[in-house]
Amino acid sequence: MRINSLPLRVRLTLLMAMILSIACFSLMAALIYTARIVYVAPQLVPKVSTSEEMGREPLPVTIPSVPPIPSAPPIPSVPPVLIEQQINFASTGFLCVILIIASGSVLTYRVAGGALKPVTDLSKEIEEIDENNLYRQVQVPPSKDEVSRLSISFNRMIRKLEKSFTAHKHFTANAAHELKTPIAAMLARIEVVQLGGPPSLEEYKEALQDTQCNAERLNILVHDLLRMNADLNVAACVTFSAKELFQSILSELAAEVQSKDIDIEVHLEDIPVYGERNLLHRAFSNILHNAIKYNKPNGSIQITGTRHPDTTRITIADTGIGIPEDQTDKIFEPFYCVDKSRSRELGGNGLGLSITKAVIDKHSGSIQVQSAMGMGTTFEVQLPNASTVY
Ligand code: ATP
Ligand code: MG
Repeated sequence: MRINSLPLRVRLTLLMAMILSIACFSLMAALIYTARIVYVAPQLVPKVSTSEEMGREPLPVTIPSVPPIPSAPPIPSVPPVLIEQQINFASTGFLCVILIIASGSVLTYRVAGGALKPVTDLSKEIEEIDENNLYRQVQVPPSKDEVSRLSISFNRMIRKLEKSFTAHKHFTANAAHELKTPIAAMLARIEVVQLGGPPSLEEYKEALQDTQCNAERLNILVHDLLRMNADLNVAACVTFSAKELFQSILSELAAEVQSKDIDIEVHLEDIPVYGERNLLHRAFSNILHNAIKYNKPNGSIQITGTRHPDTTRITIADTGIGIPEDQTDKIFEPFYCVDKSRSRELGGNGLGLSITKAVIDKHSGSIQVQSAMGMGTTFEVQLPNASTVY
């Protein structure tokens, strides 16, 4: 069994037992050693008896002519009683050490249990949270310790997760609804043709035209959905002229510009843009398309670019119908339309700006909108320069 797979409480107890064992056994060894030196050694030194003690006359002092040869000290023998004392001392000591280690470990286990209780409680609470009750929050302990900080971070993460889950659910429901509508219209048209007597050539033509319209709508929708998830191909990112990009977008939208008689001013001299050309073409085309679609007849659009040390800023301002203030941040949500029936009439699905935002985010840029009802709307896109990205 690996130590890492043991519960934290058991690991702490084992660690404490190990530290206690090392400390106690070292102390015990030191004690035994000291005891032998201090108490046992003097008892073994041979005692030399003096003449007075032996009751004899002291011998006259004579100076020996030859220095005495030092004789080897007698080897003391350890008395059996001393050996018994030593064994008793050591065994009692070791018994005490084992008792200290055992009681220390039990105490550590209990104290660790108490100290780790907030962690155990937190883990139990987290276990009860799943995708069906992401609104639940774990309790934050009043202490200002690590567990309290962990609980706050967990709650913050779960809130973000819930938001993303809800957005995902809405997206799936909206996508299903948007896909269902043209399919249902096509099926209904086919049924109508089949119901009556044999249809005339005119009726066939009408039914086919309707079906084609709905199939085209489906096609656009599916392409838009795919575009939203398109990855940024970093290898395809280049620096190119913003003026050229907008010229090609405007040539695509020329018919709509003409039909509404909209005046377009472009101020993009020497403005470079860095990124994947196709994706940025789609992103700016969506903004410009809206500026035409939601503009008044004979209105105007101003496209301006400014260079900054780290970024390029492009603003697209129109003189259109405007967006209510409380809805300016919702228009980037997939399938969101300020006026659903108007957007439907104009052939919109509410995906244009969410695609634009997804593309700008992939380029590490930002998009902001300012609008005044009946006056117009201004979109501002900021994109990092090539030097900032690398
Ligand atoms: P799609 O772009 O998929 O064809 P759409 O234009 O309705 O459909 P978005 O481009 O995502 O969808 O725009 C979302 C909503 O924001 C629009 O329905 C519209 O109400 C509002 N909107 C966007 N741009 C403008 C604008 N320039 N002026 C006024 N309203 C706008
Ligand atoms: Mg649009």
